[in-house]
Amino acid sequence: MSGSRLTARRLSLAHHPTPLWHHPELDSLVGCEVWVKRDDANEGAASGNKIRKLEYLLAEAVSQKAEVVVTCGGVQSNHARATALAARRLGLEPWLLLRSSDPEPEFSGNLMLDRMAGAKVRYVSPEEYADRTRLMGDLRRELEAEGRHSYVIVEGGSNGLGALGYVNAMLELERQLRAGLAGPRRSFDAVVCACGSGGTAAGLALGAALCDSAAQVLAMAVCDDAAHFRTVIGNIVAEARHFVKNAPAPVPVTVIDDFKGPQYGVASADQKRFILDVARRTGLIVDPVYSGKALFGLANMTKKPERTLFVHTGGLPGLLAQAKEFENLV
Ligand SMILES: *Cc1c(COP(=O)(O)O)cnc(C)c1O
Repeated sequence: MSGSRLTARRLSLAHHPTPLWHHPELDSLVGCEVWVKRDDANEGAASGNKIRKLEYLLAEAVSQKAEVVVTCGGVQSNHARATALAARRLGLEPWLLLRSSDPEPEFSGNLMLDRMAGAKVRYVSPEEYADRTRLMGDLRRELEAEGRHSYVIVEGGSNGLGALGYVNAMLELERQLRAGLAGPRRSFDAVVCACGSGGTAAGLALGAALCDSAAQVLAMAVCDDAAHFRTVIGNIVAEARHFVKNAPAPVPVTVIDDFKGPQYGVASADQKRFILDVARRTGLIVDPVYSGKALFGLANMTKKPERTLFVHTGGLPGLLAQAKEFENLV
């Protein structure tokens, strides 16, 4: 029941517990009962799901006395931005390998915040990025050769240690449910989240089993496919269990890859209209890369659970980088 079941060290970087938010108009838009876990509001500019993972990952970086943190992502990576800001807060220097086919990408959204934090940015082509693990290892060795001790964080912060952020989130949820913050019922039929590198879904599945707060996880893929994520999530869960005392088996995870839209980072016209509907009927903003596609997916499932927890994983800077995609719709 308590956080003491997790054996890894955690830094306090985010504002927890995050609110459980409910709006009747969202229920009717989506077509089921939706409670929103507002992890989009868990910090300032560093908000979102990545800061929960970073509470564990950067605790390890600090305990290893690293002075540099290396990570990677797309040019509009929320993970890279959260890492850059959290690293600076801790006095560490962020180095980012960002995937971009354009050597001079637009100064906006997440990249603007990376730059404001003075992150050391290297752009890598999509072809080179396929080899990101090796590239980060090379960079770490380069930095170590200069005497700078470096800590490497995998893409999305999605390993067993990072996933503890969402085990911890489920323990936090259990306390909120006990306090009646989501009505008299103490559990959900499903927890729903966007899935980009699998760590969030993995942590949720393990955490939900630990405290009986949800029967299953619905992971809405925004890239790759269901088979890929089933393997990835399984591996992350196996790693994460090493940090949990008397770890239970995770609750079932269903990966749904029907709502990815045209491609990663690009939303369909229907998805964009849905995002605008949500904003106009509820005041809630979801983004076109992750949270908006995931909520759209839930709304468009043929057989949906009755009572759901939607984890709002953030992503606002990514939306703001897509002003041109939305300008003609409003
Ligand atoms: C990274 C990210 C996700 C996906 O989480 P994973 O743990 O990588 O699967 C979802 N939403 C937002 C806003 C993100 O930045």
